[in-house]
Amino acid sequence: MRDTEAQMATLERAARDDAPAAPPAYRKLSVVVPAYNEEKSIPILCERLLAVLDALGAPFEIILVNDGSKDGTRSALQTAAARRKEVKVIELKRNSGQTAAMMCGIDHASGDIIIPIDADLQNDPADIPALLAKIAEGYDVVSGWRKDRKDAAIRRNLPSQIANRIISFVSRVPLHDYGCTLKAYRLDVLDGVRLYGEMHRLIPVYASWMGARVTEIPVRHYPRKHGASHYGLERVAKIILDLIVVKFLDRQFMKPIYVFGGFGMLCLAISGFAVVWALYLKIVDGLSLIQTPLPLLAVMTFITGFMCILMGLLSEILMRTYFESQGKTSYVVRDTLNFDASTHDIKQAQK
Ligand code: UDP
Ligand code: MG
Repeated sequence: MRDTEAQMATLERAARDDAPAAPPAYRKLSVVVPAYNEEKSIPILCERLLAVLDALGAPFEIILVNDGSKDGTRSALQTAAARRKEVKVIELKRNSGQTAAMMCGIDHASGDIIIPIDADLQNDPADIPALLAKIAEGYDVVSGWRKDRKDAAIRRNLPSQIANRIISFVSRVPLHDYGCTLKAYRLDVLDGVRLYGEMHRLIPVYASWMGARVTEIPVRHYPRKHGASHYGLERVAKIILDLIVVKFLDRQFMKPIYVFGGFGMLCLAISGFAVVWALYLKIVDGLSLIQTPLPLLAVMTFITGFMCILMGLLSEILMRTYFESQGKTSYVVRDTLNFDASTHDIKQAQK
């Protein structure tokens, strides 16, 4: 814990010391806060956020997304927005979930650095300068790590630790705490990222696959004082399923036929093998076809294999629709040198 504090202090000092000398690492900061039934926390959160952001001395905005709250969150947000023009509020018509609310905030953000933070005061706005210090070092994504997490140990922390291990292993992006909302992103890594389900946790994975530089720093964490958590154990299953989707979309999206077709061909091969073996048993050993399960196996694997290849073809068509309808490319350009700007403009205009 002491180590964490020392590291924080150094990073905060670095953020402060660097400010006048180095060119600003960002133009404008957008803090995005999804809020669902957080009436008691909102006034305190806004006050703390404003204190930290004002001290940074750069342009900023705080985008609070009211995710269809049923308590007094709406009026708390209106009061906060009336005080400062930097506090912006979006009211969603109905509860859409934390990820959707966050996506809405990101869509409306005008800053080039996006910092999502929980509304429930479990994250500490005072960690923001440390996140920015890392961004200034050249990282595109800085993830908060609730090293000393203050949630129920068995029901929350243990499943989350297991999930973090699995995600790190599968994605090969090693982070200790995907679940921490407090993170900092350069806007360009969020370009084209659409979030569904519980996917906001997996942005660092996606960004890293797209070539972003990802790091993490320990951040403070506090127990929830007001209101109750909106989640339970079922979330881990959702996150793992989301991980499968992200993994599939990234690696195999370009050539789904290789996945489905590959499995399909394996099934067809097994089917062929089963037929040959069944015939061998009949001709050489004189065993009747119905005495072995081989004919059944052959038929089952033949149908599965055939269907898989068809599914691969369908996904290829879907993939083309996806890319071509949105003008997406199968590559991501980081930068170009000596390219005629006008050529680029013409191509863009043609799209
Ligand atoms: N939240 C939201 N919509 C929801 C559920 C949660 O906007 O449907 C917000 C909530 O107000 C909080 C953040 O998401 O700011 C995290 O929620 P919570 O504290 O319940 O999650 P936990 O910290 O327990 O993981
Ligand atoms: Mg919370």
